[in-house]
This record gives sequence, C-alpha cells and structure tokens, in this order.
Amino acid sequence: MRAADLRGLELITQDPQNKLPLFGSARLFLVGVPPLTRLGQDIMERLGPATAGAVLFRFGYEAGLGMATSLADMYPWENDNEWFLAGSVVRSFSGLALEEIDHLRFERGQGILSFRGRWRDSIQTLIHAGLQGIPPHSGCSLLAGAASGYASACLGREVLVRELACAAQGAPECIFEGRAVEEWGLAPEELRQQFSLPQVGDEVGRLRQALEQASRELAAQRDELESLRRRSLAPEPQEGMLYRGQAMARVMVLAAKAAPTAATVLITGETGTGKEVLARFLHRHSGREAEPFLAINCAALPPNLLESELFGHLRGSFTGAERDKKGLFVEAGAGTLFLDEVGELPLELQAKLLRALQEKEVRPVGGVKGQPVRARIVAASNRSLPEMVAAGSFREDLYYRLAVIPMALPPLRQRREDILPLARHFLEQLRPDSPGFSPAAVRLMEAHAWPGNVRELANVVEYAVVLAGNERLGPEHLPPGLGQAPTDPLAGLAAGLPSQEELLRRYTAYVLEQTGGNKSQAARILGIGPNTLWRRLKAAAPDAQRG
Ligand SMILES: [Zn+2]
Repeated sequence: MRAADLRGLELITQDPQNKLPLFGSARLFLVGVPPLTRLGQDIMERLGPATAGAVLFRFGYEAGLGMATSLADMYPWENDNEWFLAGSVVRSFSGLALEEIDHLRFERGQGILSFRGRWRDSIQTLIHAGLQGIPPHSGCSLLAGAASGYASACLGREVLVRELACAAQGAPECIFEGRAVEEWGLAPEELRQQFSLPQVGDEVGRLRQALEQASRELAAQRDELESLRRRSLAPEPQEGMLYRGQAMARVMVLAAKAAPTAATVLITGETGTGKEVLARFLHRHSGREAEPFLAINCAALPPNLLESELFGHLRGSFTGAERDKKGLFVEAGAGTLFLDEVGELPLELQAKLLRALQEKEVRPVGGVKGQPVRARIVAASNRSLPEMVAAGSFREDLYYRLAVIPMALPPLRQRREDILPLARHFLEQLRPDSPGFSPAAVRLMEAHAWPGNVRELANVVEYAVVLAGNERLGPEHLPPGLGQAPTDPLAGLAAGLPSQEELLRRYTAYVLEQTGGNKSQAARILGIGPNTLWRRLKAAAPDAQRG
C-alpha cells in the first residue's frame, strides 16, 4: 500500500452495532469551523495565547499519534516512507490543511527522521480569522501537534514539528519542519512550553508505551521521497492500459515505439492479461486507425471454417459457399488483423499463414488468383510458442515471422502495485458513486494470486458491486476463495518482493497461523526462542489475527 492510494472515505467505517462513524477502531466526531472558533475564543480568553497554543498542540499530538497507529494497523505499507506520507495525506483530507512534503529523510533503523513541508488553507488560520479581540496567535499549533504526534509514532521517538513561517502572521503559506526533539537543540524550558508539559519525561514514557502496543514495525527501506515521486508520476491510466509498475511500463514503451511501424508483433501472456487491449493500443497508434481493426480467436472455429474466415473463399468452392467471401486478411484493408491464440492454428493453416506473411498475398479457398494483403498482423498466444516449436506442433519459420517484435505481458501477480488502481478503475466504471473498498478488501485483493489476471480482477469487482449495492466493498462482498491463501503459499508470502526482514515477519505470522496460534510449537518449528518469537509477533500480530 502506498500513501498516494489512500482514499479518505474508505477510511471511515460504521460501527456494525450502532452505525456510528469510526476511524480505525476509534469513534469519530465531525465538527465544523464555527464551533471550533467558539472553542478557540474560549480557551484563548481563559488561558492566554501561549497556553492555548500548547493545549491545541497536545490535542493535535494525540490525534496524530492515534492516526499513525490506526493506519499502521489498517494497511500493509510498502515501506516506512509510505507510512509516514500517509499521515500527510490524511492531514489534508481530514481538513486540517493542504499539506505538501518537500523534503523527507527517514531511516528508522538509524533513528533518523527529518522533513520539511508547507501548509495551505490551514484550519487554524480560518479559526483565528473568526476570533475577536485576540492578538495574532503564535502559529498553527494544532497542525504542528498533529504532525509531531504522527511522526513520533513513525520514528518510535519524540519528534517535534515547528512552524518556520505562518500564514496567520502574514506569510504566503505556512512552512514547517520536523526533527527528533533532541535535534532541535531546545532548552528544557522551551520544550516545556511547546508540549505544555510539567514533565516531558512522562510524556515520552507514555508515548513509548502506546507505541509498544500499537505501532507496527515496517520494513526499513531507504526509498527516498524522490523515488516515490517518480513512481507516482509514472504514466496514468490511458486508453485501457492502466499501469504504474516498471513491468508494464517497459512493455508500453516498446508498444509506443512499435505501433507506427509495419512490423509484425507477437504478444504473449497468460490468459486475462490484456493481449487484445494491447493489440488495440497498437492499432490506435499505428497511423492506420482510420482503417479496420479485425480480431479473430484461432481456437474458436473448426479448421475449415477458420480457413475461409481468414483467407476467404470463392462461390461454390464447398457446400454452403453460396457467394464469394473476401476473408479477414483482405477485409482488414490497410488496418490491423489480430490473430488471438495463434498457437491453436492447425499445421496446414500455419503453412498458409506463413505464405501470407512472406508473399503478402492470400489465395481464397477454391481460387487460383492471389489477393494482396496490406494489413498489419498482430498475433497473440497464451502458450509458449518456442515450446510448441520444440514439440513440433508449431512451425519454427512461422514463429520467427510472427515474433519480429515480441511483447510479453506480465501476469497480475508480478505487478501487484497495479492491483488497487485497476480495481478502482473497474469500480469507477461500474459505479462511479461507490464509496470504495474497505482496507480489509484491499488487503485480500493485494494478497490474491490472480490466476485469471486482469480479467479475473474485473470480474471480481463486478461480482462485489452486485453484492454490495451502494455499500462500501468489503471482504464479505468478494467471491468465496479470494480470501484464501494463494495456491502457492510462498508466492503469497513473497508478494511485493519484501525485504528479508519483512519476509521473516510474514513467515513467522504464517507459521503461527498454521499451528493454530500455538506459540511454543511455532517457535520450535522456526528454531527460535520464545523471546525472539514474541518480538517478531508483536510486529506481525495484526496479520496473524486476520488470518
Ligand atoms: Zn500556520
């Protein structure tokens, strides 16, 4: 899961018992600016700006801390940076301010977290504008508190966020910076003011406790913000080809280059990976898009029908041939002819196809005169043609004629980063007003092996929409079997190619699950002591419980 994939409304659920709103497991209370202004006025008047600012900071801090631990429980984050950035996304959608992070350095293993960013339209500048007879406040203490609490949970140590400039004091926008408390070099008195605490030490102890319980260790990867930016700027869904990962990006770069040429293309990929969608993409960008795009599935027709369908026939050439038929090669004109499942062509038609490609003409059934072929040929196969060549069921010379430009579509399980965007795309098409997927449904979909690839995913979303109606799509709406372990448990464990540390965590949870939660048995199987198991499980517990 990545921060950019968060959708605000998907995070808000209803308590199944009483239908009251929840964020994570905490009851939620929505409040608008006018009553907040009332509250601000009251505490400013009674406490003075400095103490009021500190109270708001603590309020925000508590909220940020809870947010971070809830988000850690809700989703398996791809890395620490994503978890951290999710906080920024949530501060924006929850209405605190439009937040942007400009710089981030987060190396949890080494205890390093520093960041810098901007707030626009901060709620506190709005509240302050409504206050009467109150001097300009000392800054967006509520926001600084929220960001401090969130960052402290991420790092596992106290982090302090301070404003360097504030819009409420005339700056064009609020600029903030976050660092571990000790990095600020503040005197104890300044710290006390910031946190409004009699003893900062107590607060640190309390924070540690909260973290022990709730914070989940994420794989310490050194993905910098830059790489995140690069990926989130990767090509957006266009013309039915929706992808974000490198695997598909490579295919699409090749497709864009190959499209305008006349070269024959061979698309390979498992069933449901979108071979025809790619063929149509090639056609649309071929410069031949005004000409026809004709597609035929070579496995769908018996050989004699397939022959006349492809190459045409003359009237009277066989029983039932009541008039001349041109055949797809000729009908495609200067357009594109897409031959799906080309591996299923019988050998005698393979010979005829080879001749069509070599001599650029076809002879209709019952005819002697050749017809010129101008169409560009795109073929596809979900079987391995080289293996069929080796087995003697596919002509080697035809294979090389077809595979002038080979393109291999990766299976969905090798492009897991695309699962959620694709699922949302299908959902958007079917039900634009849907409240989206629940975090549990996202986890199940991301863990599934998807043997039927993108087509299976589209079917699953359609199934879920039928069951869910206007509700948010949850695990109970997914088809039976989707929640079960993937057919290859190792593929499931290694989903998303985790770090060794993360893999160890997942495997520990898996073994515990297999032993029915028996910790001493699990420790024996893993060959580790009970303490080591305990440490690993503290991190892995949410997954183990979910199954
Ligand atoms: Zn501000």
